[in-house]
Amino acid sequence: TIVKKLFLKGQIVTLNTELTFEQAEEIALEYDVICTMEEKVDVIGELLAEEDDPEDTLVPRPPVVVVMGHVDHGKTSLLDAIRKTNVTSREAGGITQHIGAYMVKINGEPITFLDTPGHEAFTAMRMRGAQATDIAVLVVAADDGVMPQTVEAINHAKAAGVDIIVAINKIDRPAANIDKVKQELSEYELIPEDWGGSTIFVPVSAKTGEGISNLLEMIILTAEVKELKANPNRKARGLVIEAELDKGKGPVARILVQKGTLHVGDFIAAGACSGKVRAMMNDKGVKVKSAGPSTPVEILGLDSVPNAGEVFVATENDKEAKAFAATFISESKNKLIEDTKAKLSLDDLFSQ
Ligand code: GDP
Ligand code: MG
Repeated sequence: TIVKKLFLKGQIVTLNTELTFEQAEEIALEYDVICTMEEKVDVIGELLAEEDDPEDTLVPRPPVVVVMGHVDHGKTSLLDAIRKTNVTSREAGGITQHIGAYMVKINGEPITFLDTPGHEAFTAMRMRGAQATDIAVLVVAADDGVMPQTVEAINHAKAAGVDIIVAINKIDRPAANIDKVKQELSEYELIPEDWGGSTIFVPVSAKTGEGISNLLEMIILTAEVKELKANPNRKARGLVIEAELDKGKGPVARILVQKGTLHVGDFIAAGACSGKVRAMMNDKGVKVKSAGPSTPVEILGLDSVPNAGEVFVATENDKEAKAFAATFISESKNKLIEDTKAKLSLDDLFSQ
């Protein structure tokens, strides 16, 4: 339909031609009147779709690791413990920041860690076909075993197709039962290597530090096999990890750059928001001028607060950024309608 439309306007395109933002916007605006919901979501898909970067532009990038698991099983403690193995005592006192994402260097190799994204963030990423992480560390408390959010985390990780490494935490506790956790996880096709399976299980204690270096080693090994790469020399693109409105600074977004390099002064769009990167801070709260692939940064300069899980793109200019955001706004409306519909039908299901 789009091809036909542009053709009628005297523009010759094929299915493989990349649309300009202006064209996409024009189509989206027009479709407001004439197209069905599904077709319009396709327009967004077209906006977000892009070809893979050519092989010869790719260079190795750090792995992005998400820590997931049931509440209170020790995700945050584990992230803290990992970070402690990495910071010097001089730095250690200065850490007060809220952790959403950070980068550590293990034997000189950088790894980016993310705390569990919320449910909505996951759903949003999936909707956009975006993949935030390469490896999921599934934290299961050895004294508690598999719980509802453990299963939820497994499902999310499997749906996203990421490698799962199991960290059996709290092994310092007297009630710890490692075999029981292994048994329970086997029911979800996570079978330890010593039981003939292929999942890496690492017993750890975030409290005593036992097993942490082993866990990090397993993460590095898993990442090496994946040969993760990205093109740093292109416009940045990535995901919003979390965002909020700061009274003094305005909208603050913590983002993960996935491809390209983001610079202070770049125009960007993130979901329904747009703006210009006014300032950028790394995970240590230090101002930086640029951020390459797999780097988490905090940015200022968006005109509103984007949703967690939304894709951000750096654009050529202000106009492109605004057009992108505008298209998202019209799509969001549709999504709301679809969500309502889906919810209604679910409710119908339960009331029978
Ligand atoms: P989260 O909800 O998964 O982020 O869990 P937290 O990291 O907040 O930990 C929940 C509770 O478990 C806290 O009271 C921690 O101190 C405790 N905890 C976490 N890891 C360990 C561990 O390895 N051993 C023991 N004994 N307690 C732990
Ligand atoms: Mg936590």
